[in-house]
Order: sequence, then structure tokens, then C-alpha cells
Amino acid sequence: MSELHTKTLSEIAALLQAGDVKVVEVVEHCLARIEATEPKVRALITVMGDEALKQAEALDAAGPDPSKPLWGVPMVLKDLLTTKGVRTTCGSRILENFVPFYDATAVARLKEAGAVFIGKANMDEFAMGSSTENSAFFMTANPWDVERVPGGSSGGSGATVAAGQCFGALGTDTGGSIRTPSSFCGIVGLKPTYGRISRFGLIAYGSSLDQIGPMTRSVEDAARLLQVMAGHDPKDSTSVDVEVPDYLAALGREDLKGVRIGLPEEYWGEGLDAEVKEACRAAVAEMEKLGAVTVPVKLALTEYAIATYYIIAMAEASSNLSRFDGVRFGYRNKKAEELIDMYTASRTEGFGDEVQRRIIMGTYVLSSGYYDAYYNKAAKVRRLLRQDFDKAFEQCDLIAGPVCPTTAFVTGDKADPLQMYLMDIFTISANLAGIPAMSLPVGLGRDSHMPVGLQLMGPAFSEQAMLSVAERLERVLPPLSMPEL
Ligand code: GLN
Repeated sequence: MSELHTKTLSEIAALLQAGDVKVVEVVEHCLARIEATEPKVRALITVMGDEALKQAEALDAAGPDPSKPLWGVPMVLKDLLTTKGVRTTCGSRILENFVPFYDATAVARLKEAGAVFIGKANMDEFAMGSSTENSAFFMTANPWDVERVPGGSSGGSGATVAAGQCFGALGTDTGGSIRTPSSFCGIVGLKPTYGRISRFGLIAYGSSLDQIGPMTRSVEDAARLLQVMAGHDPKDSTSVDVEVPDYLAALGREDLKGVRIGLPEEYWGEGLDAEVKEACRAAVAEMEKLGAVTVPVKLALTEYAIATYYIIAMAEASSNLSRFDGVRFGYRNKKAEELIDMYTASRTEGFGDEVQRRIIMGTYVLSSGYYDAYYNKAAKVRRLLRQDFDKAFEQCDLIAGPVCPTTAFVTGDKADPLQMYLMDIFTISANLAGIPAMSLPVGLGRDSHMPVGLQLMGPAFSEQAMLSVAERLERVLPPLSMPEL
């Protein structure tokens, strides 16, 4: 097998534009790579081989198009982004046979830019989880060590990119679901500012938290995908009409002089594995060598973030998931005779345990007697948490810390849901505050030999600065080779 799959998205896009490789050749290569690695990794719920090859032939026949920045580039989508005519399961039995009749806006924009979709990626059911163990269909393995989880909920997207099955994938992030799998799989993952990318066609989990974002093998690749997807969409009223800067133009900076990096003590202390701390600390030291200065900052409410997040996310989920009732979408129990029994049976059989747990808890925190005690209080803490970030960003340009307290854990290790929720301690605050955050691979952990991700967070709409700092740092870090499979 040639080494085409080890190229970055930006490299393959350039080769395709120059006519040095044909789209069919690249797509066939990816499909062969999928066939060779899927038995071990299991990243994909649906492989779109025939559609992709047909599209590739049509693109080759028309010839390269410089106005299309992703012309001919094979990509994978998390299976909760609607794809016209292609099954979209959300990792759930209840949507096992759901075939949408429209593309999500982010998907349509990538397609318009010339991307070729080759698969839909596995995920925790309805994006609820941090390990992809909650998929209704199968678990995905971490390409670096198949005994371990790839992270979640966009674990299929993380694994497919790390395994070289495609050149980039989309994930979604409600409380860390892009950053955690990116950290665990050793790739770059960006959760943009809430409202930066349209959520139209993203099957909702927590609507005030969800964002779509790129998962790639380089910072430049992430910038390229963000460039294509960002911007207002009349179909999503929460997408913001803020000018989209030139993300690529900001890359290639010489140094990090004048950049102030905030280090929150709450992210660097107790509960953080020594090997993660060491790898992240070393990366920060590299930033300092490039001229950045570090400043201590306080995010004092971090200890309440998990409770706050899980109240809000579950409340929103219970309301969003009420549309899956066996009537309008997906799976229906055919034996029930009364309507109410049909609802109950369809939802009981269609949803997995974690999803049911969250619907029940979410309904509880929204119920009239408890609304003020839980949901309202969480909304207030969320506001305070946002203010903490505002204050911190008066002292620094970006915040740096770990993405997760540990590297990828062994499958089955976090069977207790609470233990799993605790993995999100460093990622959920960015969603509560609506700010952008990314994971950058900074090396392998000393003990586990698994990838470690450094998290960068910035003020709303600071993606350009964040990507430019990350790209500068990326150039001084030793590159991770692709895992052996
Ligand atoms: N692990 C978090 C949860 O289960 C985040 C998931 C996500 O970002 N979709 O809710």
C-alpha cells in the first residue's frame, strides 16, 4: 500500500488540485485503508463506497477546480449530521433506519467545496458519553492501542482520522466530544465558538451547547475546514452573523512574542495524571521559548462545572429527544395497541440505558417542583462561570491546560456513569461559556505511551488567534507518526 493516507488534508488537497493524483485513486486508497483497518478499529457505521466512487469519477471527469478548496478530498462525518439519502443513526437503535432528505448546512458547505464523503462515523448514542462505548451498534477501538477507548462521543471520527482512513472528519462537541477523542487519538480537534458554524442538520443533544467542528491531522487542516463551514446560516437562528476572518492567512507566524497564556490553577492541580501534566507542561514551556508569557489565572467555579453541565445538558436532551416517539422518526414498536403504549415501548426499546437515564434526570430537573432548585440554579452558575472566563481573558489571550485528566483508558474501565462524567472536568466549561477550545497533540504519555492533548481556550470568536498559536507550537513539537495497525 502506498503512503497516500499519511498525508494531511492540506497536502492531499494540493496534490489533487495539481492533478498529481486522481480523485478516484485517492478514494480507492481510502476505501482499501478502511478495509484493512476496520476489523481492528471499527470507526464507521456506514461506508459510502459506491456513492464516493461515483462522485470521484464525476470530479475527475470535470477536472480540478481551484475555486473549491476541498476538491476531491475524502472525509468522514459523525453519524448525527444529516446526509441527504444516506442513513443517519445517531448511534441509536431508534434511528437505525433513518434516511434524511436534506444535508446539514456544514455538510452542504463541505460538499460545495468539493469534499467527497466516504463514511459516517460511530459515536456514543445521541452524543452522550466520553468513550464511544455507548453506541447502540458496536464499540470503536483506539488506533494507538485497540484495548483502549478512542474517547467520545465523536470517537469514530477520532479513530478514522488517526487510522488514516480519511483526511479529516467532522465531530460535534457539547461538553468535550470533539476534544476528548482528539486528545485520546492524537489528532487536532477544534470546537468553535457557539454560533460560529450552523447547527442546521445536527441532530440536537443540548442545543445551547452543541457545536460542529473539524477533527484533522494538522492545525492547518482544521483551519481549512473551519474556513469552509463558518458563517451565518438563515436556517439556524443561533448561527451568528459575525464576519469570518481568513484563518489560513494567520498561520505561519514566526514566534509567540506578546502572547499571554493563562494557566488556571484549577486545571493543573489535583486529579490530573502526572504523565498528562508533564506532557502539557512541556508544551507550555515550548510556547515560552517562542516568546509567550504565562500568567496564573483563576477559574474558581471549575469544581461546579460538572454538576452545572449535566443538569443543563440533560434538561435540554430530555426536551430534544421527545421528538423520537415512534410516530415521526425511526423505530416503532408494532405490537402496542394503544398510542401511549406505543410511545412507551418504542422509546424503551429504541433508546439505550445512558440515554434513558438522561431523559429521566432531565425531565426531573425541569419538573415544576424542582425547576428552581436545579435548572434555574444551574443557569445562574453558568452565567457566573462565563464571568470567570471574561475576567481571566482580561489577563491573558488564551488559556492552556489539559484536555482530559488521563490518556485513553482501557475499555470497560469506567463502567460507573459518574466516573465517566468526571472525565469531562476540563472540557465542559468552554461549552457552558460558549467559547472556542481546541485539542492539540503534544506527545505520548510517559507511562501509557498514549497521545496527550493540550487544550487551548480563547474568548468568543478568537479562533484565528488560537489556530495561529497552535500552528506555531505544532511546528516545534515532534510530529506523531501514524499508529501501527
Ligand atoms: N461527555 C459529555 C456528555 O456525555 C460530552 C458529550 C458531548 O460533547 N457530546 O454529555
